[in-house]
Amino acid sequence: MEREAFGQCLGRALRSSQVRLVVFFVLTWLGVAGLLAFLLEEGRQQAERKAEADALGVSALLEARLAGTIRRLQATLEHIAATLPPEAFLASAKATQGEMVRRTLILHSRHFPEVDSFRVLDAEGGLLHASGGRTGEASVRDHGYFRAFAEGRSNGLYFSAVEFDRSAARSVVNIAVPARFDSGGLQGVVVARLDLTYLAQWFDSVAVGAQGVVSFRRVEDGSLILRRPFLPERVNQPLVNHPLQQQIEAGARSGTLRMRATLDGVERIYGFHRLGDYPLYVIAGLATDDVLAGWRHSCMLAVVAGLLLFLALSLALVRVLRAGAREALTARRLQDSEARYRMLAENSHDVIWTIDIPSRRFTYVSPSVSDMLGYAVEEVVGRSCDAWLTPDSALRFGREVDLRLRRIAAADPGAGVLVSELEMVCKDGEQIAVEVVSSYLLDEDGVARTILGITRNVSERKAAESALRESNRQLHARIEEIGRLQSALQELAVRDSLTGLYNRRYLDETLEREVSRARREGIPLSLVMLDIDYFKRVNDTYGHQVGDEVLRTLAATLSADVRAEDVACRYGGEEFLILLPNMPLVAALARAEAWRAAVEGLAIGHGDFVLTFTISLGVAAYPEHGKTPDDLTRCADQALYKAKREGRNQVAVYSD
Ligand code: GH3
Ligand code: MG
Ligand code: MG
Repeated sequence: MEREAFGQCLGRALRSSQVRLVVFFVLTWLGVAGLLAFLLEEGRQQAERKAEADALGVSALLEARLAGTIRRLQATLEHIAATLPPEAFLASAKATQGEMVRRTLILHSRHFPEVDSFRVLDAEGGLLHASGGRTGEASVRDHGYFRAFAEGRSNGLYFSAVEFDRSAARSVVNIAVPARFDSGGLQGVVVARLDLTYLAQWFDSVAVGAQGVVSFRRVEDGSLILRRPFLPERVNQPLVNHPLQQQIEAGARSGTLRMRATLDGVERIYGFHRLGDYPLYVIAGLATDDVLAGWRHSCMLAVVAGLLLFLALSLALVRVLRAGAREALTARRLQDSEARYRMLAENSHDVIWTIDIPSRRFTYVSPSVSDMLGYAVEEVVGRSCDAWLTPDSALRFGREVDLRLRRIAAADPGAGVLVSELEMVCKDGEQIAVEVVSSYLLDEDGVARTILGITRNVSERKAAESALRESNRQLHARIEEIGRLQSALQELAVRDSLTGLYNRRYLDETLEREVSRARREGIPLSLVMLDIDYFKRVNDTYGHQVGDEVLRTLAATLSADVRAEDVACRYGGEEFLILLPNMPLVAALARAEAWRAAVEGLAIGHGDFVLTFTISLGVAAYPEHGKTPDDLTRCADQALYKAKREGRNQVAVYSD
């Protein structure tokens, strides 16, 4: 079960593009690292192979020089041994032969800069002649090479152990050949002292690196003759249990070997060559540290470069992964958003749609179209958008679309969204008012190819709006009516109902205001109070209604002859008072007289007879007669009574 679950989990992970990318990266990197390791290993092996070849080459070079020298030396020694007269090996003949032999030896030694001196020993090992150096040295009878010749063990070329010549401060190897009588007895020995200091220069001239080593050894036990770097304490010491020595002893003439040196613990690659048939061999050893220094440097550079590459690739991978994660998140959000919008579109009461502009056909319509128009979605998608509009709306919508497209083409930034009010025809033939909000979607070239729109049925809203407008209109009419009534009411409040003149209350307010103004502005003001003469009689004679008629006629006469600013009012019963603002006494008297005359001239027809009447008038003026409304009213009243007293149908001025 667990394995199955793990398998499923792994399968899911591998299906993820990000995990696939990481796996690809890891595998690629492992491949690159493997290739790098392979190439480095190949480089190392190549360096080691080259080192082996170099070591072998150096040892071959030294072998060629040494073998050549020794071969020539052997020929020279044998030549000397064969050509020297027998006396030359006798101490007794030294006086007679000495000079000749010495010259012969010197002659030969000129061809051998590597030879310290050529020497001739007698049969006892005593030094008889030498090409150079001292001749009085001790006998070499006990020396190995001499004993080998004396005892007949060796008859050919003999190489001595390394000797240190203190007098000349140099190391030498004696190379000797015996001179024998025909009987085989030892006649003497011819020796060449090979100068190791000279040979050391050869060794120094070959390139074996800082820790490299070159040595020259004997075949029989590997004892050291010469070594670079110099190790004096190892000279003449044999090589015991040494793999290289073992190879030589096994008969190998040349070869290579890799091992850690017993002397200094340095690991080296050795090449060795035996010197022809001579019991000598040379070794050249290159330290692996020196050999691989270049490779190690390249290795380090490659590792650093590899790590840098790895870091750079890892960084790039991380960026790619992050970008991928962001992209995935965006895609998920887009999906969510699309799902949300789809849900909104599917569940909206409004109809959401898209139209392909070139063909003007619906490419998408939300399901609510069936509620709004009665058509199924399939009946609408793919059809022209004009099909559902009234002819007038289709024309208008077409014009608006063309205009929008022209504005979009002209890069007008405000051309993106359009709100139109149109009429549509439902499946059952009913016309509905709709509000269409259309948005023009541009492609990457900035060309509008699709219209995204929302259509809302606004019929009910329209009906409600017109109902609201109607009730508003009615309300306004009512308000106006009320206003009119209110002003009429206000008018009524200040008017006398019978005559239509102002009433006394209004006069009181106005008189108060006008007297204040006259005082403030220093202007005159007059009051005229009048009363119908013998009015009781009119009532009594003709009746109360005729009396009213007289009152209305008088009021109309006065109203017709006053200025706009004058205030004519019914003061009470058949008494009237006229306020004349900004009018001096004299002018007021003239006005009063004019009214009196006008009334006197009135004739009211009533049945078979004509009714006439007169009035008496009293005049008072501000500021002459009084300075308050009460004073002025009282003065006008007294003037009126004065007119009555003095006979009626006249005008009187107040006087004390
Ligand atoms: P005089 O010349 O002194 O003024 O005599 P007169 O008869 O007019 O006396 P007075 O002014 O005192 O009479 C007032 C009369 O006016 C009394 C009343 O019958 C009458 N009157 C008052 N108000 C009205 C009204 O509204 N209609 C009618 N028809 N008569 C009115
Ligand atoms: Mg009266
Ligand atoms: Mg009267």
